[in-house]
Amino acid sequence: MSDCIFCKIVNDEIPAKKLYKDEHVIAFLDIAPITKGHTLVIPKVHQESISAVPAEYQQKMMHVSSQIGKAFVRTGEYDGFNLHLNNGQCAGQVVPHAHMHVVPRIGTDGFHWNWRNLSYEENEADEIIAKFNEKFSI
Ligand code: AMP
Ligand code: ZN
Repeated sequence: MSDCIFCKIVNDEIPAKKLYKDEHVIAFLDIAPITKGHTLVIPKVHQESISAVPAEYQQKMMHVSSQIGKAFVRTGEYDGFNLHLNNGQCAGQVVPHAHMHVVPRIGTDGFHWNWRNLSYEENEADEIIAKFNEKFSI
């Protein structure tokens, strides 16, 4: 897609600090990192939603992301990593080209997810699963 910033990176039209590329994906450093080393892994096909990205590209995104996280840990600079994907504006997606965030972590990096712990009322969980089952296909 011609006006997509990540397609421009795929097509070498704008620069990026690349870590890896193959026939399915490209990985490059995020320009405004959560931690130093924060990497984006993107499919070479333009799709806004991860669910529209062909399965072989999704599989490669996950595999490459975990291997990049492992490599950062192997440097000895990090103890672990987060894999994170924002799908949809409401979920925090800003760039409308599907991408996986790989965030290398150490316990002292000062970053915290704003995680909450809600609970289900009686039958609520079963109702959610019933609605889900009406729509789920794989
Ligand atoms: P998201 O909120 O999941 O859509 O994340 C988009 C990410 O893309 C943000 O973390 C941005 O810092 C990053 N980003 C935007 N433009 C560029 C760019 N030209 N090169 C590298 N990272 C970028
Ligand atoms: Zn794109």
